[in-house]
Amino acid sequence: MNGENNNMLEKILNLRDYVQKLEDISENIINHLNSLKDLDDSTRNIWTSDVKEFFHNTVSAWEVLTTITEGEPNLKNIDNSKSFLYAARNHLSKIISELKIFPSQKTSILIEKAETAFEECWDAFWIIYKKLLSEKEIVKPTKRVIKVSDLEYHLPCSVCGKSAVEFRIGYGRLDEKESLVFRGITLETSLNVKLANMLFKILQKKDLLGVHNFMKKYHSFEGVDAYCPECDKIYCWEHYNAREEYDDGFYDCTYGECPKGHKRMIDD
Ligand SMILES: [Zn+2]
Ligand SMILES: [Zn+2]
Repeated sequence: MNGENNNMLEKILNLRDYVQKLEDISENIINHLNSLKDLDDSTRNIWTSDVKEFFHNTVSAWEVLTTITEGEPNLKNIDNSKSFLYAARNHLSKIISELKIFPSQKTSILIEKAETAFEECWDAFWIIYKKLLSEKEIVKPTKRVIKVSDLEYHLPCSVCGKSAVEFRIGYGRLDEKESLVFRGITLETSLNVKLANMLFKILQKKDLLGVHNFMKKYHSFEGVDAYCPECDKIYCWEHYNAREEYDDGFYDCTYGECPKGHKRMIDD
């Protein structure tokens, strides 16, 4: 058992090579930004800090993993590591949209190198996550809708059982009065509390399509961001493989692709 642990620790420490490679590429990108004459200083500063954030997130994803081998693999730490890696992927997508504003052969090479190195890094991390998690018991979700109380319902991910959507009567972050608060995988929003009665009736019937249509009608065209209409299932951020897209450095939208390959825009 001890030997296995050492082996795992070694594998985690080896991830450092992938992180190192991303550090080199980040430096190359920053040097390239410094060489762009048409770029004004404030934009250059923003873009440079995007690159630094990208790199710091990959370092953090690695550092969180190095702490877990000292004791029992801890689900919370694995989750944190994943969150850093997702944040890094979103930053990279933003950085690429920024680089594309000044197209050149050098830009194309930098983008390709960054994408390839990140993909390799991503795959290496996921091999470790899967190994660490295979030693844990996987909890199979049994319910489509979880009633927490008369005022609160959760929709668990159909793959891992983690809560992906919450509806509750309460106060959202900016609310001055009681609302129907929705928290999905991409956003949190508050609806008129008078709608709660109608929604809770749909939830009691475990009618996920009904909940989706309710959100389409009363919030936005994307409906429930965690819901795949073709599967009639709920997925968390990880299992919907959610990806933020950027246009000229600004957030554009988020796409989800479920494990069956159904793709749709889940936030706009
Ligand atoms: Zn999940
Ligand atoms: Zn699907």
